Order: sequence, then structure tokens, then C-alpha cells
Amino acid sequence: MSERLPNKTALITGAGSGIGSAIAELFVREGASVALLDLDSDVTEALASRLQHQYKKRCVAVEADVTQPQQVQSAVQQAQQALGHIDILINCAGINVFRDPLALEEEEWQRCMATNLKGPYNLIRSVLPGMLARQYGNIVNVASVHGHRIIPGAFPYPVAKHGLIGLTRSLGVEYAAQGIRINSISPGLIMTPAAEAWLASCPDPQAERERQAALLPCKRIGEPSEVAYTALFLASDEARFINATDILIDGGRSQIYHE
Ligand code: NAP
Repeated sequence: MSERLPNKTALITGAGSGIGSAIAELFVREGASVALLDLDSDVTEALASRLQHQYKKRCVAVEADVTQPQQVQSAVQQAQQALGHIDILINCAGINVFRDPLALEEEEWQRCMATNLKGPYNLIRSVLPGMLARQYGNIVNVASVHGHRIIPGAFPYPVAKHGLIGLTRSLGVEYAAQGIRINSISPGLIMTPAAEAWLASCPDPQAERERQAALLPCKRIGEPSEVAYTALFLASDEARFINATDILIDGGRSQIYHE
């Protein structure tokens, strides 16, 4: 079967874990060369080395904190040097910050917004000049069902994810006439290290896991590879008329009003 990302290059943030790792593996399998960005490049170096060996595509690890514009700029330059240019940006790095709104510390608000909202913007700012010069670029931001619906007890994460969907729509329209598409995807609960950590923090993790699965119309929790296939579609030229929009990947849960 032919590859779906032939000769494409992609920069993927949060590539060291969960959904970002699954996207990296699928993209390389589908023909892309990749730069894997994460806070700590030890994990991404091992992944890049395995993928390069297995699929014979150029795979490099770059290190940056997405909240730091200068680190991001430098990582993007390294990725461009290694891959020649960047066709695709996947903004997947993100963190859960779930607090009582009145107990929330200033630093926690800043960290949530800086990572989940300003971080993707930092990456977009750094890759856009190269994409505009080539009049070609596909950007996919990993938002969340929390960007569409409110689950009580998760503040201020949904504020950042609503903002990320707004960023997607706004910039998607700004650059549409110059060959750039910017979309987002909104996963529901997906079994990743971050989701495992959240479950482990619940008073009865196994009961919570079962409760979460039962809430879903399909009665099971999502897998990182299922999100990766949606990112693949949007990042590929198959989706060339899709721009400034969002795809929900939540097994239908967000369509339910009341049980
Ligand atoms: P994950 O397993 O924790 O992976 C996130 C990755 O991002 C980690 O490698 C993490 O590095 C990295 N990262 C965090 N902060 C960073 C920063 N400031 N700079 C650079 N890298 C950073 O999480 P995941 O569950 O796969 O989530 C990936 C994305 O999907 C996030 O945007 C999340 O909000 C979104 N999402 C997840 C779910 C879900 O149920 N899993 C649902 C909806 C949306 P460290 O491990 O070193 O911190």
C-alpha cells in the first residue's frame, strides 16, 4: 500500500510519551521524516533512533520547553537543519492542571496557559516563516473534549483548551490563502501515561477506570493510536480542503446530554 505522508517532514511536540509518541511512530511508518521535541531528549533520542533504524527515515530528537520561545526557536532551527524544512507541525505537548478555582495558585494558572495555549503558539510562530516561504504547511493542535464541554473539577485546563481551539480557527483563517492549514483534534479519555497518572490520583483508581469506560457510548477508553490516525488524516494532503476546524475523537461521549 502507498504511504500517506510520502517525503513529508514533521515536527511533533510531546513526542516522548502517549499520544505524541503514537503520532511519531505512525507518521514515520507512513513515510515522513520527523523531529521529536520534548522536555527531555533522552526518551525521544531512543525513540528517534529506533524509528530511524526500523523505517529507514530521518528521525531526530530536539529538546525544548514549549513555554520558552527562545528554546522553541532554537529547536525548530535544529529540526529544519536536520530535515531541510518542516511540512507538518503537531502540537501535542500538554499538561493536566485540575484544581478548585479558588484554591488555584497564580503559578498553576500560568503553567497551564503557558504549556497548553502559549506553547502551541510559540511553535506555530517559529515554523510559520518557513511554511510561508514554501506556501505549504499543515498544523494540527491537540486540544481536548475539555475544549468543547465542561467536566466539573477540571479547571483551568478547559480554559486553555477552549483557547487552543480558538487559536486554531483564528490562525487557520489568517493563513489559508498562503497554503497553510491549521486544524485541531479533540480527544476524549485516552489511555496514556498522563491519563494513568490521573487515574492513580483518584481514591479508587480501578473503580474510576470502570466508571470512565461505562460513561462512553462505546464502553471502552480510547487508545493513542486512534488519535494518531486522526492526526495523520488531517496532516496528510487527503484533508487538503479541511482548515480552521476541529475533529472530536471521544467515542461519541460529548454528544450525550443526560443518561
Ligand atoms: P503525556 O503522556 O503526559 O505526554 C505529554 C508529553 O508532553 C510528555 O512527554 C511531556 O514531557 C511533554 N511535555 C509536557 N510539558 C512540556 C513542555 N513544557 N515542553 C515540552 N514538552 C512537554 O500526555 P498525553 O496524554 O499523551 O497528552 C498529549 C496531549 O493530548 C496533551 O496536549 C493533552 O492535553 C492532550 N489530551 C490528552 C487526553 C488523554 O486522555 N490522554 C485527552 C485529551 C487531550 P514530560 O513527560 O517530561 O513531562
